[in-house]
Amino acid sequence: MTTPTRAAISNLPPYSLAEPVPAGVPRAVLLAQNELGTPPSPRAMAAAAGAVADLNRYADPDHGLLRQAIADCHGLDPAGIVCGVGSMELMGLLALAYGEPGAAVVVSQFGYKYFQLQCALAGATIKVVPEPGMRADVDAMAAAVGDRTRLVFLVNPNNPTGTLLEAGEVRRLRRLLPDHVMLILDGAYAEFVDDPDYETGFAMVDRGENVVVLRTFSKAHGLAGLRVGWLYGPSDVVAAITAVRAPNSVTASALAAAVAAIADQDHVRAVRQDIARRREAFRATLTELGLKPLPSATNFVLVACPPEVLGGADGIFQGLKQRGIVTRPMGSYGLPAHIRITIGSAEDMAYLDEVLREMAKAAHQ
Ligand code: PLP
Repeated sequence: MTTPTRAAISNLPPYSLAEPVPAGVPRAVLLAQNELGTPPSPRAMAAAAGAVADLNRYADPDHGLLRQAIADCHGLDPAGIVCGVGSMELMGLLALAYGEPGAAVVVSQFGYKYFQLQCALAGATIKVVPEPGMRADVDAMAAAVGDRTRLVFLVNPNNPTGTLLEAGEVRRLRRLLPDHVMLILDGAYAEFVDDPDYETGFAMVDRGENVVVLRTFSKAHGLAGLRVGWLYGPSDVVAAITAVRAPNSVTASALAAAVAAIADQDHVRAVRQDIARRREAFRATLTELGLKPLPSATNFVLVACPPEVLGGADGIFQGLKQRGIVTRPMGSYGLPAHIRITIGSAEDMAYLDEVLREMAKAAHQ
């Protein structure tokens, strides 16, 4: 006999992860998970290493130093900040606190899938709003809100499209929603944005609007392996998430590294500039080869692959993989003719460029 699971779990679609590096390749280049391809701030690495002296102790459950460091960097109220084991943990906690059978959640078609999965796990109904032109449709999202809707989730800049929604559109979405519906703004890639008008959502929270901002140390700060994320939100959300979270989930090394990383804004600026330079050079190569990279405000590029160029999305994905370069096929997002490629280190991008050009040359022989 087996014990039955909750119905929400037995019907859950699997969350698709990046493929592993194939065995036996001379060189492995991981460009599938939008990680930073270069090391984090040396100050963050030193802080993580220093924290191991206290591994016999539980980490500070209040995350006081990190909340203060985040507040200092962004000019926020530390009382509005909750830290978690990556923003994925916070997504799960938001779903747990606000999703349940009978509740509804509105998401945009190409928005980050993990949040949907967590809401489905909580038993909530998910309404997926189509994205014409691969851009969140604010009017359609607002129109999808019904009596049972509690949460509206917007990723900006978005993964996997890389597109940025203008500040005015983000604010318009909030204005179109009923006050009791929470707008969650996932800014996992915010540090890569070079637009002075970018709407972080922080001021919306401070104005008392029903907005929750999610951020992470996994991308521009280069701390994906340590797992630290945070949210900024109104006091009722902070209370709800604090009530459902595990007190000691974020480790001491992670907290120490994150404090040092956010204090090292010179490193963040250098990362943003380097990524932008490599991203635009790579987009130019892709265009030259006949592929169609979308504009991106992030550290990755979504590439439309015409079937006649290098065997289309599948041909390119497989060809790169055989040479040890792992990218992300987009079939799970309903985009089978696209692949998503993370912008890696200068060496990784030079190798990728070389391999793509070799593939193009071979195709023309
Ligand atoms: N949000 C978005 C849009 C992402 O793309 C990702 C990771 O790829 C995450 C959140 C998860 O971040 P974390 O590592 O903080 O859990």
